[in-house]
Amino acid sequence: MAAEIINGNEIAKQVRGEVAEGVAALKASTGVEPGLAVVLVGEDAASAVYVRNKGRAAEEAGIYSETYRLPQETEQDEIVELVRQLNADDRFHGILVQLPLPPQVDEETVLYTIDPAKDVDGLHPFNLGRLAAGNPTFVPCTPAGVQEMLVRTGHDPAGKHVVVCGRSNIVGKPVSLLLLQKAAGANATVTVCHTGTRDLGEITRQGDILIAAAGRPEFITADMVKEGVVVVDVGINRVDDATRERGYRLTGDVDFGPVSEVAAAITPVPGGVGPMTIAMLLKNTLQSARRSVGG
Ligand code: NAD
Repeated sequence: MAAEIINGNEIAKQVRGEVAEGVAALKASTGVEPGLAVVLVGEDAASAVYVRNKGRAAEEAGIYSETYRLPQETEQDEIVELVRQLNADDRFHGILVQLPLPPQVDEETVLYTIDPAKDVDGLHPFNLGRLAAGNPTFVPCTPAGVQEMLVRTGHDPAGKHVVVCGRSNIVGKPVSLLLLQKAAGANATVTVCHTGTRDLGEITRQGDILIAAAGRPEFITADMVKEGVVVVDVGINRVDDATRERGYRLTGDVDFGPVSEVAAAITPVPGGVGPMTIAMLLKNTLQSARRSVGG
């Protein structure tokens, strides 16, 4: 039977609507307008699209947003200095530095400069540490979006075996920590797979929920999942496609057609986790603005 398609666009729209209501209420009660600063370094085409979408979504939700565009050759010190200025700028409750940064820049140095209280991407070690300790402040946006999608579609991870493919600091590790929490919308048994995992299929077939975040196009095939699994495909991969005008198409980490014949539910790419990531960024920015006035 074909799987239920989990519509990330629809769920993200709901979340964004709720954020817009929260923003309006905060403005009315305190006069505070939530603000988001986005830093984009270089000309990476995909990053430029993400940043444009984030800025647009912020404005639609009533969040003041400014994008700082710096040239590809910008030195690390200059980016660090900009982040310090944004830390001190009261207009902004959230700062997001779009990754990847150019090769001359050490990403950790830049990310660690962001004031943890404005780290709405949740990637500062203070916020990752709070998550690991079971007392999260800002949860990284993509993992938070994955959890939100599961819960809102009735696929609560509680008590389930969640298998995560990928151990990056942005997706794999934080989504594992998040779903491991003894908390509502979590409380799962989590297994994390990575490039060192032997016999990946043996483990992925055990997952009641499978989260694919390896950045490998369509590498999760139908024989690697169990009947009735819920599949969350985080991957966004560009693969060459001469039939498309732009010469490529976007695909996830999951072989969507065959896997959706076996799964109970599945997220598509595009239109799955991607829009949720932006929605959660807005949610974190609102949360940060509320905290700035003691909320
Ligand atoms: P990454 O390259 O930093 O990490 C990939 C991880 O996958 C690594 O930890 C690696 O050990 C693991 N891995 C790689 N090949 C594997 C294999 N064959 N078997 C098991 N594990 C394997 O990538 P990332 O930043 O975590 O992103 C992962 C994917 O998610 C990418 O396609 C990226 O574009 C996408 N992404 C999407 C969003 C979104 O909003 N939807 C956000 C962030 C990243």
